[in-house]
Amino acid sequence: MNRRDSLKLAGLTMATTVIPNSAIASETKKDNEIIKKVSGKSVIIVGGGFGGLTMAKVLKKQDASIEVTVIEKNSIFISAPFSNALLGGLSEVSLETFVGDYYQPAMKYGYDFVNATVTKIDRDRKVVVTTDGSFAYDILVLSPGVVYDYERQFPLWSSEKIAKISQSCPAGLMSGNGFVSLKRQLDDAKDGNIVIVPPPVDKYKCPPAPYERASMVANLIKNRNGKGKVIILDTRDGTFAKDKAFTESWKDLYPDIIDYVGLTEVTDVDVDKKTITYTEFANQKDIKGVTKSIKYEVCNLMPINKCSPIIKMSGIDTDESGYALMDGYSFKSKTDNHIYVIGDAVTHAIPASGQTAIWSANRASLQIIAQLSNKVYDTKVGLPAKSANICLSMVGDKPEEAIVITHTIDIDGNGMLMSKGNVHKPKDGAEKYRSQSTAKATREWFAGVMRELFS
Ligand SMILES: Cc1cc2nc3c(=O)[nH]c(=O)nc-3n(C[C@H](O)[C@H](O)[C@H](O)COP(=O)(O)OP(=O)(O)OC[C@H]3O[C@@H](n4cnc5c(N)ncnc54)[C@H](O)[C@@H]3O)c2cc1C
Repeated sequence: MNRRDSLKLAGLTMATTVIPNSAIASETKKDNEIIKKVSGKSVIIVGGGFGGLTMAKVLKKQDASIEVTVIEKNSIFISAPFSNALLGGLSEVSLETFVGDYYQPAMKYGYDFVNATVTKIDRDRKVVVTTDGSFAYDILVLSPGVVYDYERQFPLWSSEKIAKISQSCPAGLMSGNGFVSLKRQLDDAKDGNIVIVPPPVDKYKCPPAPYERASMVANLIKNRNGKGKVIILDTRDGTFAKDKAFTESWKDLYPDIIDYVGLTEVTDVDVDKKTITYTEFANQKDIKGVTKSIKYEVCNLMPINKCSPIIKMSGIDTDESGYALMDGYSFKSKTDNHIYVIGDAVTHAIPASGQTAIWSANRASLQIIAQLSNKVYDTKVGLPAKSANICLSMVGDKPEEAIVITHTIDIDGNGMLMSKGNVHKPKDGAEKYRSQSTAKATREWFAGVMRELFS
């Protein structure tokens, strides 16, 4: 991040925080008062990310009489998708590229935006309690995303140690300070090792993101003519999202920069000595492994993800990582007829991506509208859905090149949604997975999504 970016971001933050919520909320609140809407069609959406903002807009566009309120704890929107392009130093990408103004779509489509943190969900009274008042709902939509779970991955680390390592080796998977800190560290780096640790085998936000990040950091080093290395310490054995396409690109573009080390498990990080310690296993059957330590200049440690605690807080049924159990093929909670869950927080076997959050919001909105009109919604309608998910990853620069996977979403044999991915070789790729037209499509996808959410 350069100084200009920091100032621009500071300006945007100030601009949003000086506008009081009352400028947007449709009713004035008193202490302990529950904001009740009158239509019997009040939808509260928790989380103003990809899923929540899509849901708010789509509901209002389909039926303006639905009273929609989005409750979001952040005062500005910062996108995670495409953010690796900023780390990689691609042209015409700045921090501002990722920022959205929550008030803009709220005013345009006529929904309320409340900048507050949800602290309690009272399902009996159908009330959401926040740091800025309580809100009654007829339908509640939860789109709170995921959070880091350092405690599960490193049970022997104290909370002080976790705090120190999470700040010094920022994961940068959530928008905000961790990402900005990672960007600063990468910009300041000289020729040392950049160690990237993807989340271990488990569900996490955007499966290709750590490998796209490795590509973009390698690009940064290459464009600087630096001597640094990108070392990926992965629990996987080389099998990961878009693996063939990434490894082909790394071999062609960054043969002396990226070292992928699979079957490893990080055990310790010494942030003062800047060393990372891990066990490397010879194969899947090796349970002993060999302990190794390496020096790093920048360490990007991405821990296991778990579902946002909001889902458990609501008291609906979840799996052991807190993701919501779903009612068949729908995006309704299995437990509560008045709660829908969309985006990363669901247990359907579909990729945790911004695109599926948008898809799930669109799908759930149809069911919500049917429910509010006492109609029956067929949860199998439109399935299988081809290219319901598309995920594009930048891999190179000068010329800019990217790779792509699409997923078809369908029903599985157990009454849930599942997906099947296809990594494409584009026509202009000369038999390679990456191409310039895919890079163009990556920029267009991101610009289109931001346009859809914010204008
Ligand atoms: C580096 C990176 C690159 C990515 N690239 C892509 C990509 O190219 N394509 C793609 O499709 N996806 C991509 N993703 C994934 C995408 O960002 C997520 O899958 C998507 O954001 C999920 O949407 P969501 O609505 O479920 O959650 P989110 O977008 O995470 O939104 C959740 C919101 O809920 C709010 N919230 C949580 N708790 C509370 C509370 N208690 N009170 C109030 N508000 C609360 C949060 O502040 C947040 O704004 C990428 C992710 C990363 C990290």
